[in-house]
Amino acid sequence: MKLYIAALLVASASAFAPSSTMRGPSALDAVSKKDSYDVTLLPGDGIGPEITEATTKVLGALCKRCGFELNLKEALIGGAAIDEKNDPFPDETLQQCLGSDSVLLACIGGYKWDTNPRELRPESGLLKMRKEMGLFANLRPAKVIDQLIDASTLKREVIEGVDVMVVRELTGDVYFGTPKGIDVVDGQRVGYNNMIYSESEIERIARVAGDVASKRGGKLCSVDKANVLDVSQLWRDVVTEVITKDFSDVDLSHMYVDNCAMQLIRWPKQFDTIVCGNIFGDILSDEASMLVGSLGMLPSASIGESGPGVFEPCHGSAPDIAGENKANPLAMILSAAMMLKYDLARPEEAQLLEDAVEACLDQGIRTADIKQDGDGCELVGCVEMGEAVAKHVETLEMKTISA
Ligand code: NAD
Repeated sequence: MKLYIAALLVASASAFAPSSTMRGPSALDAVSKKDSYDVTLLPGDGIGPEITEATTKVLGALCKRCGFELNLKEALIGGAAIDEKNDPFPDETLQQCLGSDSVLLACIGGYKWDTNPRELRPESGLLKMRKEMGLFANLRPAKVIDQLIDASTLKREVIEGVDVMVVRELTGDVYFGTPKGIDVVDGQRVGYNNMIYSESEIERIARVAGDVASKRGGKLCSVDKANVLDVSQLWRDVVTEVITKDFSDVDLSHMYVDNCAMQLIRWPKQFDTIVCGNIFGDILSDEASMLVGSLGMLPSASIGESGPGVFEPCHGSAPDIAGENKANPLAMILSAAMMLKYDLARPEEAQLLEDAVEACLDQGIRTADIKQDGDGCELVGCVEMGEAVAKHVETLEMKTISA
C-alpha cells in the first residue's frame, strides 16, 4: 500500500534496507515518485471551501517551486452532496476518488442537515467513504508546536517536545461487530454490541503501525485491555508476533487502555507511536490531540491496503465561523503534507510545507483560534494565513531528507 511508501523508500537506502525486504508480504507496495499526480479535492461544508482554497494556493506554490504537477479535481461530499445529489457520498465521488492517486478532504457537516434521517446526514458520507474505500488505518499525529505551547491546557514541562502518532484501526471492533441491538429480555431492554477482531484484521494494522514506528522514533506501544477481554488477548498475541517477526528495528511495549489514558496526560513524552483498536483509538486519539491545544492545527490520514488514502484535518466544519474568513487552514495544509509524505512519495516537499507552517508561526501571525491574549502576534484571516504559507513555500530553503 501506498502509505508505507515513503516510509520504506526513505529507509531503503539506509542500513535498514535489508530488514524492509525481509518483512514479507504486507500488502504495501511502494508508489514511485511521479511528475504528475491526480488528486481529488473534497471541500465539503462550512469552512471547508475556505480552507480548501487556502490549501490549493499553497499547493500551487509548492508545485511551481518543486517542478511537479498536482491535478486537483473537486468532488461532492457531505451536506453539499446531499443538496445536489441527495446522497452524502455519491457514486461519482467514490469513482473519482478510487481513480485518483490521493484524496484531500476538508470537512463536512452543519446545522442545516442535523435533523435529516441518518442516511441523509453528512456524517454518513464519511462512514460510507471509509467503508467503500477500505480505509482501515487512521493515523493521527499530535505534535506539540513550540510557538503554540501556551495554547495547551497542560503544563509546559509536560508537553514540550511531545510528538505522538496514534495508529487507530478504523473498520472493525465493537462499532461494526455483530450481533448487536436492543432486545427485551425478562421484561427489560438489553443493549449489546460485539467487540470482535480477526487475526488478519489485527495483523494488517500491526504492519501499518510497525512501518510507521520504524520510520519515526522506533518505539511502538500497543494498547489493549488484555487483563479483562479475550479479544484484547488475541490483539496482544498477534501484534507481538508481527512486530517480533518482521520489525526487528521496532521496540514494542504493551499498555492497558486505562493506564494509557492516564499516561498520556501524566507523561506524554514516553510515547512515540501508539497502535490500538477502533474504540480505544477513538478515545485516545482525541485525548492525544488535546495535548496540542488547538483543533485547527491537527491533520490526519486514513489509508487502506491498496488505492488512495484520504487526508483530512481532525476538526469539523466549524459552522459558527463559516464564511467569515476566520478559519485556520493549517490543519488542512498539514494534511496535504501527510498526503505528500505517505501517498505521493514526496517527503521533501512534505517537509517544506511543514517548515513553511512553522515559519508563519515564527513570524508571529495567528488565526483567532490560536491567538492568545497579549501574545503580541498579528491576527490574520484564513486567506492571509494561506498566502503567508505560500510565500514561505516559495522562499524557504528546502531540506534534503537523507536516506
Ligand atoms: P468543529 O470541529 O467543527 O468545531 C469545534 C470548535 O472549534 C468551533 O468553535 C469551531 O469554530 C472551532 N474550529 C474547528 N476547526 C477550526 C478551524 N480550522 N479554525 C478555527 N476554528 C476552528 O466541531 P463541532 O462544532 O462539534 O461540529 C460542527 C460540524 O462538523 C458538525 O456537523 C459535525 O458533525 C461536523 N464534524 C465533521 C468532522 C469531519 O468532517 N471529519 C469532524 C467533526 C465534526
